[in-house]
Amino acid sequence: MDTTHEMLTVTGQAKATLPVGDDLSPITVIGTEPIRQSFGGETLKQAINSRRAPGVSRVVLNPDAHVGYGAPVGCVMVSPTHVYPGPVGVDIKCSMSLLQTDLPAEALHDAAERRKVIKAITKRVPTGAGRGQRHAPKSRRVDGRLGFQVATEGASKAVLKKLGIPKSWAEACEDAFHLGPDGTSDSLAARLQWLGRERDKLDRIESKYRQLGSYGGGNHFGEAEVVRLAGGERERAVAETFGLKDGCVAFLSHCGSRGFGHDLAMTQFRSLKSVFQSRGLAFPAGDPQLVYAHADSAEGQQYLCDMAMGANFATVNHLLINALVLEAFREVFPGIRGELVYFISHNIARQEPIDGAVQWVHRKGATRALPAGHPQLAGTRFESTGHPILLPGNPRDGSSVMVADAGAEASAFSVNHGAGRRMSRTRAKKQLVQSEIDRGLADHDIISNCRTYPRDEAPDAYKDFNEVLKSVRQAGLASEVARLQARFVIKD
Ligand code: 5GP
Ligand code: MN
Ligand code: MN
Repeated sequence: MDTTHEMLTVTGQAKATLPVGDDLSPITVIGTEPIRQSFGGETLKQAINSRRAPGVSRVVLNPDAHVGYGAPVGCVMVSPTHVYPGPVGVDIKCSMSLLQTDLPAEALHDAAERRKVIKAITKRVPTGAGRGQRHAPKSRRVDGRLGFQVATEGASKAVLKKLGIPKSWAEACEDAFHLGPDGTSDSLAARLQWLGRERDKLDRIESKYRQLGSYGGGNHFGEAEVVRLAGGERERAVAETFGLKDGCVAFLSHCGSRGFGHDLAMTQFRSLKSVFQSRGLAFPAGDPQLVYAHADSAEGQQYLCDMAMGANFATVNHLLINALVLEAFREVFPGIRGELVYFISHNIARQEPIDGAVQWVHRKGATRALPAGHPQLAGTRFESTGHPILLPGNPRDGSSVMVADAGAEASAFSVNHGAGRRMSRTRAKKQLVQSEIDRGLADHDIISNCRTYPRDEAPDAYKDFNEVLKSVRQAGLASEVARLQARFVIKD
């Protein structure tokens, strides 16, 4: 334990605060004792830097927190006035989605059946860094025109129709589309035209459109699950509203805006950094990864356009993947039905009412958690329950669907986005033993498309998911409505 850990003050079950000085309100820390011990000194330092950065009104550190880009992964940064591109991250709107089918779990009992589904999915949805439509014979082809529409309109009716995605799925999205800061899609179209004004830049953008409907590499995955509803009466009623089916197969996906969002984010990091340097401005805590813009400034508005376009790409990417996954399941099991339960981001800045004012809520590896009756759920299917919260854990110990409780206000209406890394990729590759990882998955009868399961993605590279969920429950932020048990994993 270092000195920063000693500064943590326990304020309730699974809750603590971390002071930052200068009369600023302390950081809210969510986590049981063992979870709080898991935070490295560097993670806490990044959280303090984020809290002390200009315009920031509040920071929450969630149980999955670990070192990130400027701000920790697993944190929430709130500001009434400023936007912080680093804390939104390089994978703009990296998200989770869950597709519920009516296929009984027994249908996937045989590994041979699972292999057939894996094959049918990978024929349609490519995996791996840089991989796009041409790597999957049954993918959808997206040309420059449609790509432009995706970036500027998101999951509009026209885009969904062109891609053969059920239009009802737009209602199961945290945000089906993102507009420019002026409230129109015209500003996005103008910005995209400006970005592509040179031929080679346009070619680069158009090549990224061809990644629509793909997972990408590293931490992204698709996973077939068996749904097990949680015990309580309230939880069962909520699960029903969500469309969850006990004992049936569901499909959990994790990915974001691929090369398209990555390029937009990197370009923003670089140009904002040079704006700071040319104006002689100091970076918060000397860290260029915490570069920021006033939301109303020209730079802020440009960033918000780029974030919206990256977010639109990520949204349609997920919806297309889900449509292709359902098509793949139907190739093996004709006639089955599937509905999107929800699509929710963990790398985005959104305007939300916090502490009585509309503020920019940056969720960096954090998930929105609006409980029943929250004004932003008015008129949606989830008004009287709260929306589904999709939390990946790891394939061996499962994943979770939760719903926010009124106590979520304490964490700026946010929870974690997963278990969170326990080890860096380098350490995991060095310390974890391949045969033990393979045996662990085999013991749970989980198969994957990988020849050798990536060691840096192994369950033990992540924190104890049960302890993470316990933290969320004990802090009064959310309740579990279903557990998802993996049957197969598709990774890079
Ligand atoms: P990210 O990579 O976006 O920071 O984190 C996503 C979260 O997904 C991680 O914290 C981890 O808990 C979870 N995760 C990573 N790989 C897998 C996987 O293969 N299956 C499941 N169910 N969860 C995973
Ligand atoms: Mn992610
Ligand atoms: Mn991502």
